[in-house]
Amino acid sequence: MPKPDVSCDHVFYAFDPSLKPAFTVAQGKQLTLETQDCFSNQISSADQKITALDWDRINPATGPVYIEGVKAGDLVRIKLLGIYPTGHSTMLTLSGEGALTEYVQEPETIIMDNYYCQVVLPTARGALELPTNLMVGVIGLAPTPEQGAISNSMPGEHGGNLDCTLVEEGASLYLRAGVDGGLFGCGDLHSAMGDGEVSVCGAETPGLVTITTDTLDEPRLPVPFLENEDYYVSIASAETIDAATKLANDNMFAFLTDVVGLTINDSVRLMSLVGNLRFCQIVNPLATIRFEFPKWVLHELGFAGLGTGA
Ligand code: CA
Ligand code: CA
Repeated sequence: MPKPDVSCDHVFYAFDPSLKPAFTVAQGKQLTLETQDCFSNQISSADQKITALDWDRINPATGPVYIEGVKAGDLVRIKLLGIYPTGHSTMLTLSGEGALTEYVQEPETIIMDNYYCQVVLPTARGALELPTNLMVGVIGLAPTPEQGAISNSMPGEHGGNLDCTLVEEGASLYLRAGVDGGLFGCGDLHSAMGDGEVSVCGAETPGLVTITTDTLDEPRLPVPFLENEDYYVSIASAETIDAATKLANDNMFAFLTDVVGLTINDSVRLMSLVGNLRFCQIVNPLATIRFEFPKWVLHELGFAGLGTGA
């Protein structure tokens, strides 16, 4: 497990252009951040009363990190090199939150142990070993001074509480800096979560996140944007699922026509034939939807990749 460069004593609860950096890093240099879970590591036992939690300390992000050479408006690539759980996972089941709220009669706290590639869920029928899909729920850069501070509970153009299962090891997330240095932060790791995050809670986990950052010259790339081994992905958040869907579609279409250079009708046909529209989450103050487009199709059509000028 890597040694953290930025400890989880340095947390913030809103992406804020006026915050002072906790750490400075050079582009291309590996950086490991230690993160608290989304409850600020307040829960250590299943007996703990949910009402005793300090609800003002939800979704801490570690940082902010000033990235040398980043100017306001730059496109920043955050490569996720490694994600490691460092303790147990916690899950709260409660009414009043999420898409399944009317079913829950008794609030319950569950503690889950993390093992290599597995997280163990206690159920009424015995312990169930689930495969982990370690991911980062909250990840972003500070918004512009005009936009001002945005709570870590909100997803948006700056990133934030995207709760996208593709924000995992091996992925690169693209965001645009609102201020010089970008002021990066992340937290809210999940060792397991399904698309939608329907009960408002994943397997909430403290951990370590290792990244590198750099900038790319792609002035027309809509953000947030993600790529992994197989897909280019537009990620969009809005007040309704319908509006977020429209924005995710618009942003993928803009990528295909403006960045890749496909014709309008080729883009429309291919989005319908090989693209996948999926939920990230439907439980945060804004809903987040993504559009996944397979990379091989664009490589077949001569696109050499982001930042290549092709
Ligand atoms: Ca979250
Ligand atoms: Ca979470």
